[in-house]
Amino acid sequence: MSGNPYPLGLRLAGRRVVVVGGGAVATRRVPALLDAGAHVLLVAPELTPALRAHADAGRLHWAPRRFAPDDLDGAWLVQVAVDDPLAAASVSAAAAERRIFCVRADDRAAATAWTPAVTRHGPVTVAVLGGGDPRRAMAVRDAVRALLEVREGTLSAPGTPSGTRPGRVALVGAGPGDPELITVRGWRLLTEADVVVADRLVPGLLLDELRADVELVDASKIPYGPSRAQEEINRILVDRALAGKLVVRLKGGDPYVFGRGGEELLACAAAGVPVTVVPGVTSSIAAPAAAGIPVTHRGVAHEFTVVSGHVAPDSPASLVRWDALAGLRGTLVVLMGLKNLAAITATLLAHGRPAETPAAVVQEATTGSQRVLRSTLGAVAADVLTAGLRPPAVVVLGDVVDALGGAGPEGIPGGGPGQTGQSLTG
Ligand code: SAH
Repeated sequence: MSGNPYPLGLRLAGRRVVVVGGGAVATRRVPALLDAGAHVLLVAPELTPALRAHADAGRLHWAPRRFAPDDLDGAWLVQVAVDDPLAAASVSAAAAERRIFCVRADDRAAATAWTPAVTRHGPVTVAVLGGGDPRRAMAVRDAVRALLEVREGTLSAPGTPSGTRPGRVALVGAGPGDPELITVRGWRLLTEADVVVADRLVPGLLLDELRADVELVDASKIPYGPSRAQEEINRILVDRALAGKLVVRLKGGDPYVFGRGGEELLACAAAGVPVTVVPGVTSSIAAPAAAGIPVTHRGVAHEFTVVSGHVAPDSPASLVRWDALAGLRGTLVVLMGLKNLAAITATLLAHGRPAETPAAVVQEATTGSQRVLRSTLGAVAADVLTAGLRPPAVVVLGDVVDALGGAGPEGIPGGGPGQTGQSLTG
């Protein structure tokens, strides 16, 4: 058939769409149909686990059998997602008879409708047809997406010229260090920001890519050194947002893990400034992972506890029951713990955690400067001094340290437990 395709945006909310087939193609197509609000009837003798989950949750209706032409009664659209050409042709024929558009994954020439490559940006949907070459469509789509991501910050919704739209604050987790470990939403907000208030632990490369006109506020808090008052940060967030700016408060790891995100949220709320919170990949889990240590492992640890070591165990200001933690069998992850490590390990030992408990320290995890020290609870404090490890570092205690035998995340040995019980890689 010749002729150019005629693009349309189908409004499927509340309308029946039939999907024939329960394999990989259907698994990829169904979510967008559900997102469009379609009433999906899925006809297939068997489903992939992901489709099964949609059916079990009542998000679609599953007819657990082979296709029958009557299935198309009342349908607005049909998606053929079966391999068998004869079965697919019979769906096509039934659809043509009823004048229902039919998308066919197996045979685009036989289809009466094609699915484009899509990228969505808020209310805007961009759909690309590649003239018979799906890879070309995806390449064009990716190029458009990249363009829109860069420009989005300068585009404002119709009728709300920038400057008059209400300001807001986004508390965004930047992840542990590798700039690729920010979330997609966090990255998008960063590209839209008018003002970025960043911590010292935020990956520098993320800030490299900000637009030139973005106001960058460095809220560096150097450990054990002078720190800019939290009130000052709160004031900047509120001020800029009340002036109509989109303020991204970029914090290392996750904003709510020892990140004072809650205080900033309360300050904004008190001033009537709307806040979005975007979780981040926390170093408490990612730093061990980067050293080849899973915080839980079947048959090894059924719990992991994350605790801050910035207050010494014997200090009246301590909120941590170190004696109780010593009685746990599972994984203990200590953040901000280097300065007090000798006191922390002594307290755990004194309350009964065995000295041979495997220990690891991961400094500057997921960055090019990552260093990993493997030791034991009894020796780790001294080993850290010998090795000259510095913050930021995460201390991991428990049998999970040896669970993968010291293999790095890429399967490359990342410094095994070692004969002496200590080794350093970096
Ligand atoms: N909100 C952050 C933690 C802030 S507290 C998060 O969720 O990760 C700061 C502490 O986090 C540091 O002292 C250190 O213990 C840990 N930390 C943060 N980034 C780290 C990294 N890349 N490597 C090792 N530890 C890190």
